[in-house]
Amino acid sequence: MSRPEIIDTHMHGRPGITASFLVRGESTALVESGPKTSAEAVMNGLEELGVDSLDWIVVTHIHLDHAGGAGTLLRHFPMARVAVHEIGAPHLADPAKLWSSASRIYGDAMETLWGGMDPIPAGKIHVLKDGDSIDLGGRSLTAIETPGHASHHHAYLDSDTGVVFSGDAVAVRLPEAGVIRPASPPPEFNVEVACASIEKIRSLRPTGVWMTHYGPTDEGRDPLSTDEVCTRAIEALRMWESWVREARESSGDLDDVTEFLKRKTMEHLGGTLDQNVIDRMEQTTSYRMNAMGYIRYLDKLEQAAS
Ligand SMILES: [Zn+2]
Repeated sequence: MSRPEIIDTHMHGRPGITASFLVRGESTALVESGPKTSAEAVMNGLEELGVDSLDWIVVTHIHLDHAGGAGTLLRHFPMARVAVHEIGAPHLADPAKLWSSASRIYGDAMETLWGGMDPIPAGKIHVLKDGDSIDLGGRSLTAIETPGHASHHHAYLDSDTGVVFSGDAVAVRLPEAGVIRPASPPPEFNVEVACASIEKIRSLRPTGVWMTHYGPTDEGRDPLSTDEVCTRAIEALRMWESWVREARESSGDLDDVTEFLKRKTMEHLGGTLDQNVIDRMEQTTSYRMNAMGYIRYLDKLEQAAS
């Protein structure tokens, strides 16, 4: 068998921020589709790798940067099936609610950023539960229930290499930045649940963690083993939580919390990253979106306590 191959989705026209992964057994699976606006780049990537048929499109969760292009790719590969968490499945068949939920984050930029989302015929959707495997013939991908970033999220363990495709369950880390950043969007983000999912991934002792944003964590600047990346990701989730709590002591306003997070992160990084890298990190998970997710999470905690 073989090491999975990375296809750059060139999301928002930028290289190196959002990946798809090609996994070949006797059957061929693409893990993550990228957004619809990336379908052409993904098709080109598949062609460069000599792939003329796909059996599976497997998504970690249904957010637009992970699954938005799945329906479009399916038109090119009508024999393929789309594998997804059972909670996410109805939203791939009818994306209207998903689209309006994302509109609350991205506003007027929706069309430019994501380009819509082609629905997937229900008969093409293969629903997965925790522990279910997709048999690729001599190799399988096993779904690992990993909520926290979203309530419906699977990481996938490749039986052949022991690599785990972590989607957004662990964090975001661009190889040239080497910085672990939480991915904490509203409305479902939950710090405690996310930390438990990271511990679950660690307990499986994968040989590597491959993030959708972007690639193996043991490559690039400040490479990290599986164990280290899990530890750092939990530290980052906790640190950002403490920053958002601190910000809210003086103002709960989204703009203020966002600015506070930006300032704290810059201080923490100590000016080690150039602006270009920081801009690219913003494309994967922005300060503003992360602030929104933490605020919503902390609001819910406070409401539950009162
Ligand atoms: Zn996501």
